[in-house]
Amino acid sequence: PSQEPHQDIIFRSPLPYNPIVVPPTGLTLHSYVMHNIENYLDRVALVDTSDGRQYTYGQVQHLVKSVASGLWNRYGIRKGDVVLVVLPNIAEFFIFVLGVFSIGAIYSGSNPAAHESEIREQASNSGAKLVITDLKTYTKVEALGVPVVVVGPGVVPEGSHSHLSLFEADGSQAPEVEISEHDVCALPYSSGTTGVCKGVMITHRNVIANLSQTLGELERAYAQGLIPDGEEHVVLGLMPFFHIYGICGICCASMRLKGKVVVMARYNLQDFLAILLKHGVTFAPIVPPILLQLVKTDLNFDPSKLKLKSVLTAAAPLGIELQRAFEAKFPGVEVHQAYGLTEYSCVTISHCDPSNGRGPSKPGSVGFLLPGLELKFRDPSTGLSLPANTPGEICVRGESTMKGYFKNPAATAETIDSEGWLHTGDVGYIDDDGDIFIVERMKELIKYKGFQVPPAELEAILISHPAIADAGVIPIPDEEAGEIPAACVVLKPDCFISPAEIQAFVASKVSTYKQVRHVEFLASIPKSSAGKILRRVLKEQVLKN
Ligand code: AMP
Repeated sequence: PSQEPHQDIIFRSPLPYNPIVVPPTGLTLHSYVMHNIENYLDRVALVDTSDGRQYTYGQVQHLVKSVASGLWNRYGIRKGDVVLVVLPNIAEFFIFVLGVFSIGAIYSGSNPAAHESEIREQASNSGAKLVITDLKTYTKVEALGVPVVVVGPGVVPEGSHSHLSLFEADGSQAPEVEISEHDVCALPYSSGTTGVCKGVMITHRNVIANLSQTLGELERAYAQGLIPDGEEHVVLGLMPFFHIYGICGICCASMRLKGKVVVMARYNLQDFLAILLKHGVTFAPIVPPILLQLVKTDLNFDPSKLKLKSVLTAAAPLGIELQRAFEAKFPGVEVHQAYGLTEYSCVTISHCDPSNGRGPSKPGSVGFLLPGLELKFRDPSTGLSLPANTPGEICVRGESTMKGYFKNPAATAETIDSEGWLHTGDVGYIDDDGDIFIVERMKELIKYKGFQVPPAELEAILISHPAIADAGVIPIPDEEAGEIPAACVVLKPDCFISPAEIQAFVASKVSTYKQVRHVEFLASIPKSSAGKILRRVLKEQVLKN
């Protein structure tokens, strides 16, 4: 991004940036979220919906020390080492992650449903020193050449280690490690605005700032007794913990508030509803496709039986009609939206909590700017910042901006400019009331049901096929998934391959959500003089067909 040649037009939150919202400096993330835990030792922190097993705050505190001791003494994990966790959402997941944080090591999460080659790539790029997985996923990681800890009851495969080697380690032997708030604690993978997945270096301070900005007003309301404290904060832990939304937005946030996370590994509508009812979930962070299903389904119970107070949708756009239809069907349940990105450690813009006195933001808007960060809307063609009510690329500046992409200074410099602005690749505007609206995504990224699908990754696979000369992958709108990846393919002369064969070829190499769901044959892929795919032109061409 170029230097801004004119006076920037910068927007800031009107919410106070008070001491509750700005935490004292010098904290580590685990100490921030486990703050005051002594007062809540008997309260349940995590419950696993598969069999009802649960952990109190006291047990979490004890086990985090054991995990720290096991990682350090048994596996030789040291400050700065990466531990790769390849697990579905289970109750123990966050305990491992807190153990990793507490010795200054780095947590990187990978989707257990990912293709073996995708996990291998992440393990190799991150230089992971240890993998924590389950029996089902073990075969995908056994050949990585690092120790593998397998979670679950019963005997573990030969050559691997039981998770009891961590859970039963002597917590009194946990090391005291000096950790700076600016040390990296997490390394999620994201493709950002262009190219393939990159490790996003998130520091302790990045997440603490984000949590305090999102939760500060709520915490103040707790402290003043305006609303009941976390005991009645029962959060659905369905969003994947390998993603920043799950691990920071759900696990870290709930633990800070001393709420309960009701952990659910796999989504299906019947289980989802049963879990909301059975566990008295009050807050359900989800994605728009789930909201759509809830609206379309015939409920066989009275929704007033739910304790649900609000749902939060994030990770992909939510239409106004859908929001209205949900509100009509579930009276009394508030719909909030949040907008964020991995590179900003989770949330950037959010519907305010009513406790801050501003009331909910307008339907269709993703909310207000969080306190303590700055936003500008940049005209992509001139680089100038734009006034209110004028769409431009959203650029954000604040304490939650990632430290950078791991071992990739070039990609970092393309995303964070010399003045510290993070260029999101999303287009939006702010209105006169401070409500922010997302208009479109100008970066390459495709979002299938909220999951990241980097086109560059699929393009590389497509052109590795002997019959394919060139390829471009673009999103096409889809009611259920939001967007689906469509492959535009140029065949080599005298070669023929069917759309189904192309889809099967890609499917054999990627996670299910990255599969190509539509194929178009073209004579050429439109490109700029520099050879970059003109994605907008390509998209228009396909939508016209
Ligand atoms: P991720 O890093 O996987 O969280 O993906 C971040 C991207 O998801 C953003 O840059 C947006 O393109 C998209 N996104 C996240 N939240 C929203 C939202 N509420 N509305 C529209 N797009 C969103």
